Amino acid sequence: LMQLSIPLNFIGFVYREIRQGLTDIEQMFDLLDVPAEVKDKPGARPLQVTQGNVRFDDVVFAYDPDRPILKGISFEIPAGRTVAIVGPSGAGKSTISRLLFRFYDIQRGAVTIDGQDVRAVTQESLRAAIGMVPQDTVLFNDTIAYNIRYGRPDASEQEVRRAAELAQIGPFIESLPEGYKTMVGERGLKLSGGEKQRVAIARTILKAPPILILDEATSALDTHTEQEIQAALDLVSKGRTTLVIAHRLSTVIGADEIIVLKDGAITERGTHRALLDRGGLYAEMWSRQLEASEAEERLRRARETD
Ligand code: ADP
Ligand code: MG
Repeated sequence: LMQLSIPLNFIGFVYREIRQGLTDIEQMFDLLDVPAEVKDKPGARPLQVTQGNVRFDDVVFAYDPDRPILKGISFEIPAGRTVAIVGPSGAGKSTISRLLFRFYDIQRGAVTIDGQDVRAVTQESLRAAIGMVPQDTVLFNDTIAYNIRYGRPDASEQEVRRAAELAQIGPFIESLPEGYKTMVGERGLKLSGGEKQRVAIARTILKAPPILILDEATSALDTHTEQEIQAALDLVSKGRTTLVIAHRLSTVIGADEIIVLKDGAITERGTHRALLDRGGLYAEMWSRQLEASEAEERLRRARETD
C-alpha cells in the first residue's frame, strides 16, 4: 500500500540517487520495489549458492554506449576469500559491485556465481544471496532494533543484541536512555557516519549472506572508530566470499588478492607485498596514504601538546 502512495516522480528521484550515489541500494530497492531496467528471463530459476564462488569473465560494460566504463575485467573470488578493489575515483569500482547485483546487464563477458550466470537466475534470489555494507547507510525512521532486524525480520531480540555486539555497537546502544527502542533516522536520534555503518554491519551479520560487498566509507573517521569498524568488518567477512572496495589501503593488507583498477581496466593485481615490491600505482598510492596519515598524526600530537 505504501508503495502505491509514493509519487512516481519521487521514485524516479530515488532511483537516480541510487544510481549515482549507491547510497543503500539493497534497502532502497527492497523498500520501494523500484522497477529495475533488467528483467528476469522467462523461466529463470533461483540462484543455488553451493560454494559462493564469484567470477567476472572479460566483462565489458558502459552506462552510455559512447563511453566504455569497464573494458574487459576478469577476476575470481574463490569461495570464502576476499578480493579488494582499489584505484582512483571514477575508475569503475562501484560499477563492479552494481554488476554483481545485476542492476545493469553487461555488453560482453559473464558474471557468474557458482557457475550460474547472474542473467539466468531470478533477481530476488540473487539479491538475497548478497549482503552490502554501503558507504553511506540510510536508516529508517524507526527504532534501532527495527533497523538492525531489517536484515532478518524473524530474528529474536537476543539475536539482534548479539549482532549489535559483534558489530561493536552494543555498548553504545545500551548507553542510550531508551536503548534498542531509541528512534533513529531523520526524525530521531542522528547517528554519526561510523555509528550508522555499524548498524549496517549488524544488519548484515543478521542476514548472514554467503556473498558480501563492502564499500568502505571515504569520510575521514577517527582512528579509534576506524579500528572498531575494521574489527567488525573482519568478523562479518570471515568465511564469506567478500568483495571490498577500499579507500583506506590499511584495510586491504590481508586481502587474498588486490586488484588495482584504473580507467576501467586492471593495471596491477596481487597481494599487498607483491604490489609494494612492484613499485607501481599501488605502491605509489600506499606511500601517499602513509604520508597523509603521518601528517595527520603529527597534527594531532601538536594539538594535544598545545
Ligand atoms: P568508482 O567507484 O571507481 O569511483 P564508479 O564505478 O562509480 O567509479 O564510476 C565509474 C564511471 O562511471 C565514472 O566516470 C562515473 O561518472 C560513471 N558512472 C557511474 N554511474 C553512472 C550512471 N548511472 N550513468 C552514467 N555514468 C555513470
Ligand atoms: Mg565508488
